[in-house]
Amino acid sequence: MKQQRTALVIGGGIGGLTAAVALERRGWSVTVVERAAALEPVGAGIALAPNAQRALDTIDVGDAVRARADGQVAGEFRLPGGRRLARTDNAAAVRRFGGPVAIVHRAELVALLTARLPASAVRTGATATLLDPGDPHTCGRPARVRIAEPDRGGPDQPVADRPEPDRAGLDRPRTTGDKDMTSTRGNAKDNARHTDLSADLVVAADGIHSAVRRAVFPGHPAPRYAGFTAWRFVVPAPEGVSPVAHETWGRGCGWGTVPLAGGRIYAYAMAAVPAGGRAVDDERAELLRRFGAWHQPVPALLDAVGPAEVLRNDVYSAAAAPPAFHHGRVALLGDAVHPMTPNLGQGGCQAVEDAVVLAHEAGPDADLGAALAAYTRQRLPRTMEVVRRAERIGRLTTWRSRPACALRAGLMAATARLTPDLALRALDGIADWRPPAGTYAAGARGTRTAALREEQE
Ligand SMILES: Cc1cc2nc3c(=O)[nH]c(=O)nc-3n(C[C@H](O)[C@H](O)[C@H](O)COP(=O)(O)OP(=O)(O)OC[C@H]3O[C@@H](n4cnc5c(N)ncnc54)[C@H](O)[C@@H]3O)c2cc1C
Repeated sequence: MKQQRTALVIGGGIGGLTAAVALERRGWSVTVVERAAALEPVGAGIALAPNAQRALDTIDVGDAVRARADGQVAGEFRLPGGRRLARTDNAAAVRRFGGPVAIVHRAELVALLTARLPASAVRTGATATLLDPGDPHTCGRPARVRIAEPDRGGPDQPVADRPEPDRAGLDRPRTTGDKDMTSTRGNAKDNARHTDLSADLVVAADGIHSAVRRAVFPGHPAPRYAGFTAWRFVVPAPEGVSPVAHETWGRGCGWGTVPLAGGRIYAYAMAAVPAGGRAVDDERAELLRRFGAWHQPVPALLDAVGPAEVLRNDVYSAAAAPPAFHHGRVALLGDAVHPMTPNLGQGGCQAVEDAVVLAHEAGPDADLGAALAAYTRQRLPRTMEVVRRAERIGRLTTWRSRPACALRAGLMAATARLTPDLALRALDGIADWRPPAGTYAAGARGTRTAALREEQE
């Protein structure tokens, strides 16, 4: 009887977890390896445009996301003094893209995805290194990955005393090529236990500074600094703060405020500064210096947030299109392969799209080599177009010169009068995307699990 195929997902971010759920539903036995000690997502919001929601619908997560989103009805473009330049609303997004943008807390999305995976499918505190990308041809050698985990039992702990491997397939002897690819040993030097695993498919969802991308495409340029840094935080809505979302552009800086369900507010800010900077005191103080005199609710939100709750990340964007989104038995997805500026709110959305397209192509009986080539064909041109579009808007937001910013504001106000859906136009051809297949019934997983049990009996 056919053995269940195994997938190892490197990275437990939104892209990796969505891929894990989607592949599991397509009959793969999936293990997610995440180097952080826990799947504790950064405390910020995430906008999921209709394209991402439709992708999440295929794995039964879309409704739950929409149920957790604030029913936010309007958004405005403003100037730091408060003047309104343009306005949009959810009805316009529904007309244009078939649904509104849903904004949720990242923790909620991560929890929804993790809840759809067997508990043993996620290994946290485990750092993965690709040893061999493998050969995707039938009977070709599997991919191999080394996992380093804190050595709780000590380097000399005998193999028999260690906990059982958690996922069928990954740690068991292989039938393709090598006999048994698993070996485990302690390393007294770094106090970590190293386990070498083999898998039919490796999904590299290891984020912007992806080590897997560097390993499989060593000549490919690293992502380049986009010229600005971003701050994010979530706070309970201070009293009197209007529930209207806004994005406000100043000279070389900007601020966004978005209501979240449950009476919370998600705020983000950006400023054109050199890479690698940090506030001399704390990031809240830095925000106060830069934005404290802007229109409400900005000062009220800064009053409400604690210094430790403000996240800061420099923003990077892909310097060039990679040769492919796959290599051997490795599929790259999300920020690992198409880092983009957050100006369209699409980085995570595109990662979610990648994940469901990959799972669609890598169906139960698919030839893996052909499936991965089809994945690249579908995802590379689309995501690179989104990268470039987001970058163009990012550049607009970093303008500093007073006359250029005045011209920008005048053009935005005039265009908004002529084209009320101005802000949404940037998402044309992006937010209206549809996944390649309808929902994969939850039963698909049950069927495969049952088949696996039969094999073992
Ligand atoms: C300010 C800001 C606002 C944004 N807003 C939005 C938005 O509104 N909507 C949207 O769609 N996108 C948004 N994005 C983009 C979005 O956050 C990212 O595109 C998305 O989180 C990428 O997900 P990912 O899973 O590809 O990577 P990540 O979330 O970076 O996950 C990678 C994971 O891999 C793990 N990892 C790395 N190396 C290893 C290893 N060797 N072994 C094991 N684990 C490893 C990391 O610990 C991490 O957990 C925003 C980004 C920024 C900076």
